[in-house]
Amino acid sequence: MTTLPFTPVLARPLPHTVTPFPNETLTSYFYRLARVNRSEPRIIRVPSRWLPCSLNDLELLEVLSGQPRVSLVWAIPELRRYAPHIARPPKNYGVLSRLACSHCTARSGSTIHIRVHVRGLYQNVCVRHRLWLTAGAGNHHQQINLRHAPEVVRAQIAINRLVRRHGEQFIADCYRECGRFWGEVDRRGIVRSEAVKTLSRLVNADHLGMPLRHEPISRFRQAARFPQLTRFTIFMASLVFRDPGTCSVEVTEKVIATEFERVFPFDYRPRSVTGPWLRSTLLDLLSRMEARARNLGFAEGAVVSDAKTTNIRRH
Ligand SMILES: [Zn+2]
Repeated sequence: MTTLPFTPVLARPLPHTVTPFPNETLTSYFYRLARVNRSEPRIIRVPSRWLPCSLNDLELLEVLSGQPRVSLVWAIPELRRYAPHIARPPKNYGVLSRLACSHCTARSGSTIHIRVHVRGLYQNVCVRHRLWLTAGAGNHHQQINLRHAPEVVRAQIAINRLVRRHGEQFIADCYRECGRFWGEVDRRGIVRSEAVKTLSRLVNADHLGMPLRHEPISRFRQAARFPQLTRFTIFMASLVFRDPGTCSVEVTEKVIATEFERVFPFDYRPRSVTGPWLRSTLLDLLSRMEARARNLGFAEGAVVSDAKTTNIRRH
């Protein structure tokens, strides 16, 4: 019995192509390519069920789509591992993704939804088109028009600036941790009035004018809370990178609590357990963010001194 020599399957160019969208996921691109060619992603991705394909995803897409290798590598982060000399593979992609802005999608010429990678939970708004993008799972109509809530757009601009200053990784971590804390602050209703006003404007001015009785409200709440959460993230980052003093833990705790109240005026004066909870949680959060900054290799002088950190941990 003779053994057949290994014969790699040769992929053939598809009749129609689509231009890759910046930060598009690999799955999304295969899906769009299949749709415009009236096929299915699994069929174009695996040309033969019996013969192995020797091409990697980048080589296969080059052949199938006819798009330049450089365009594919720059647009689709997963492909960069095949050509790191063209664009360095990103560290954080692959965890978060969502639908691209509907206006940006239309401008790109695509009539099919596009999924894109998101660098962190802080990336929520298309600043150019003033649309809230997050938690709009399903279709573009769930993206919220922010023309009546410009503070949400300004918040995105502010946090983008913070990312340029302190790096993606630190701000992504800081925003996530601050979000957990802010969720509890919101639940206790300590500083909620500002978000309530924003929510009211967002819901009343919903871009499609559709009745919201059957709409899930959570994405509106998320958008309404975003300006405060962003301000709190900036507040926490400023504490982490402040000039380290020589105060005791008690004084530090009091200073942080006073500063917090100055930036976020309380709706009511917290008593009993809420006041002490707020102070200790703020200090604990600061301690963790300082440790994270050190782990990421920020200059030692930029974060709190070792002595004070030891005190905080002991506390
Ligand atoms: Zn857009």
